[in-house]
Amino acid sequence: MRASDIPGDFDHVLYTEEQVASRIREVAAQIDADYAGREILMVGLLNGAVMTMADLCRAMTSHMSMDWMAVSSYGAGTKSSGVVRILKDLTKDIDGRDILIVEDIIDTGLTLSYLVQNLRSRNPNSIEVMAMFRKPEAVTCPLDVKYVGFDIPNEFVVGYGLDYADRYRNLTDVATLAPHVYKS
Ligand code: 5GP
Ligand code: MG
Ligand code: MG
Repeated sequence: MRASDIPGDFDHVLYTEEQVASRIREVAAQIDADYAGREILMVGLLNGAVMTMADLCRAMTSHMSMDWMAVSSYGAGTKSSGVVRILKDLTKDIDGRDILIVEDIIDTGLTLSYLVQNLRSRNPNSIEVMAMFRKPEAVTCPLDVKYVGFDIPNEFVVGYGLDYADRYRNLTDVATLAPHVYKS
């Protein structure tokens, strides 16, 4: 759905479906150039990164395979707990592989820092991160994020895989919520 399908739920749209699609194509081209001749194992983080993964990998020409992990982050609220737990681990061995972690959004960077450290101990050839969105606070985290879709202001956003209380992942635009949604 578009934000205009249920306008009362949203405060403002940050990126339209078209802007997201166009940025995805740019990042995909950058990844293809960087990985020329190599095969990428893309590791998506459930559930937020499903849309980014689906669109990004289809915009790429590189050989790739995909795997998924689920880690705990925010629960139903809007603030990072700092506690990271692996709820679903990879099904593939990553020894010697070129890993590209695909994440929806980086806020504090706590989740990804933990994850990169965890995956590094499994001896891959390389690990890079693609995050569709990044918030200002992420710059205080030493994590090196090679590919970023959009740097956004410090607002809670939904859509394109991002949820509030598990809703709005199917919004094709990226938007902030109207205050009444948090209260209901
Ligand atoms: P971090 O560990 O970087 O603080 O948290 C990252 C995770 O928090 C993301 O993967 C996402 O699940 C959640 N998150 C952070 N900011 C937002 C936001 O603006 N909207 C939504 N829906 N989730 C967010
Ligand atoms: Mg996430
Ligand atoms: Mg969430």
